[in-house]
Amino acid sequence: MGSIKSKIIVFSILATLIPSLALGILSFQQNETMINENVTRELRALANYASRELDLWIKEQILTVRELATSKILTEGLSLENQLKKDKLIAQRKSLELYLKSVHKRLDAILELTVVDVDGKVIASNLETPFPVKLSSNWPQDASTQGEMVVPPQWNAGYATAILSIAVPILSMDDFILGALIVTFDLRDIQSNLKDKVKSPPGDVLLLDANGYIMLASDVSIVNPDNPVTLDPAALKRLRDHSGEYEIFQGPRQEKVAGLAYVSEKPLITIIATRSHQLIYAFWEQQRNFFVTLISVIILMVATIAFQMSHAIVVPLRKLIGATERIVRGDLNVELTTTQRNELGQLTRMFNQMTDQLRRNDAEIKETSAAMRQKNELLETLSVTDNLTGLYNRNKLNAIINDQLARYERNKRPFSVLMIDVDHFKSLNDSLGHVAGDEIIAGIAKKISQSIRNVDFAARYGGDEFIIILADTAINEALKTAERIRAHAANVHCSTINKTLKVTLSIGAIQSEPEDISLTILLSRVDGALYEAKRGGRDQIYSVQPKSESTV
Ligand code: GH3
Ligand code: MG
Repeated sequence: MGSIKSKIIVFSILATLIPSLALGILSFQQNETMINENVTRELRALANYASRELDLWIKEQILTVRELATSKILTEGLSLENQLKKDKLIAQRKSLELYLKSVHKRLDAILELTVVDVDGKVIASNLETPFPVKLSSNWPQDASTQGEMVVPPQWNAGYATAILSIAVPILSMDDFILGALIVTFDLRDIQSNLKDKVKSPPGDVLLLDANGYIMLASDVSIVNPDNPVTLDPAALKRLRDHSGEYEIFQGPRQEKVAGLAYVSEKPLITIIATRSHQLIYAFWEQQRNFFVTLISVIILMVATIAFQMSHAIVVPLRKLIGATERIVRGDLNVELTTTQRNELGQLTRMFNQMTDQLRRNDAEIKETSAAMRQKNELLETLSVTDNLTGLYNRNKLNAIINDQLARYERNKRPFSVLMIDVDHFKSLNDSLGHVAGDEIIAGIAKKISQSIRNVDFAARYGGDEFIIILADTAINEALKTAERIRAHAANVHCSTINKTLKVTLSIGAIQSEPEDISLTILLSRVDGALYEAKRGGRDQIYSVQPKSESTV
C-alpha cells in the first residue's frame, strides 16, 4: 500500500466509487419512494373500486329483494297464515314454495329464498332445509326503521362459496309486518366485475370475511372451495390496523406481494388489493443490476487507466532509482532510454546528460591523477637518483644500508659492500676537462650497473666514488662481482674526446659483521678497505675477511 502505484489505484477507485454510489443510492431511494407512492395510489384505487362495486351490488340486491317482498303472493300468503285451516294452509305454503322456486330459477345470483313469519319461523323456502338465517330479536322494529337487514357476507361451507343474506319485511296492505323474505346471494356474482378492473395493472382483489377467510377474489383460482384460505394473521392484523397503508406481505399464492386493506364496517368485510412485489420492482431491480454492472465496468476501466498511469510513472522512476544506485556504486556506464515526452521523459534525458557529464569529469580526473602519479613517480625517482649517473644517491644509499643492516640483524644472513674509487681521476679531469670527466664517471657507473644483479644496489657515494650493496652475498661472491666490475670498467669510451680510455679502479670489499651496528661503522670499515687498496698500489681489490663464519 505504500507505493505510489497502489496509492494512485486506490485513490482513483475511491474517487469513482464514492460519488457514483452516493448518487446511485440517492436516485434509487427516490425511485423506490416514487414506485411505492404510485403503487399505493393504484392499490387504493383498486380497493376503493372493489368497495364501491360491492356497495352497488348489495344495494342492487336489496332493491331486488324489496321488489320481491312486495309480491302479492307473499303478502296474501302470509296474511292468510293465521286464518286458514291446516289442510288449506299446507296448500297455501306449497304455492308459496312454488313461487319462491320460480324466482330462484329466474335469478342466477340467488342461492335461496325463504319466507319467515314475524317470529322468524320458516313458512316457505325454495329448499327443503333452508340456510338458517338468524334475525335479531327486535328485527321487526329494525326492519320498520331501516327497511332491510343485511347479514354480512361470510363463507358458507355448504354452498362452498361466500354468501350474503338480505332480509326485507313483508308488509300487509295496511303496513303491518307480516314476516320477512330472506334471500341469500352468491357473492361470486360480482367476481367478474372485480376481475375486469384488476387486469391492468395486474393484481388481485380479495374480499375477506370477519374471520379473515378469503371469500372472493378477482382471480377465482385463489379461492379454494373445499378449504378456504386465509392470510398470515400477523400480516392481516397489520393491514387492518393500517387501513389504506402500503404493506409488503406473503400473498395468497405464497409469493411476496405489496398490498393494502380497506376495512368496511357495514357490511363487516375487509377488501385487500395486492400486486406482485416482483412485478412492481422488476424494472427497479433491472435498473439496479444495470447500475451495478455499469459501476463495475467503470471501476474496472478506471482501475486499468490508473494502473497504466501509475505504471508510466513508477517504471521510469524505478529505472532512475536503479541507475542512481549503480552510479552510487561507482558504475558510470549507465544510459536510460525513454520515448516519453512528459516530465518523466525530460527528467530521464536530463539524468542521461548528468551521467554524461559525470563520465567526462571522471575521465578527466583519471587522466589527471595518472599524470600526477607519473610525476610523483618521477619525483620519487629523482629524489633517490644521482643526476649524473642515474645510480642511487647518497640519501637512498643510507636508507638501503639501514634496511640491509636491519635484515642482517633479523636473519643473520650477511650482505657485502664494495667501495669503488677511480684511480687518479683528478689527473683525467685536469687533462681532459670536467665534461669528459663527467662522461667517464657516467660511463663507469653504467659498467657497474651492467656488472651487478637486479637484487643488488649501486649508488654514487660522491665524486669518483661508488658503493655497491650486494644483498644476501658473502665476501667470496662479492669479490667475484668486484673483479667483474674492474674488468668491465677497464675501458671507458669518452665521446667528448672520441677516445676509449684505460681506467683502473681500487675496490674495498667487506662482508657485514655483527659489530656493524650502524651505518657509520659499516661505511668506515669499507672505507678502510678501500684505503688499503689504494695504499696497496691501486688497481686492486682489498677485502676484509669476515671474523664470523656466517655463510649465505
Ligand atoms: P686517487 O687515486 O688517490 O683517488 O687520486 P685521484 O686523483 O682520483 O684523487 P681523488 O679521488 O681524491 O679526487 C677526486 C677528484 O675527482 C677530485 C675532483 O676534482 C674530481 N671530481 C669530483 N667530483 C667530480 C665531478 O662531479 N666531476 C668531475 N669531472 N670531476 C669530479
Ligand atoms: Mg679517485
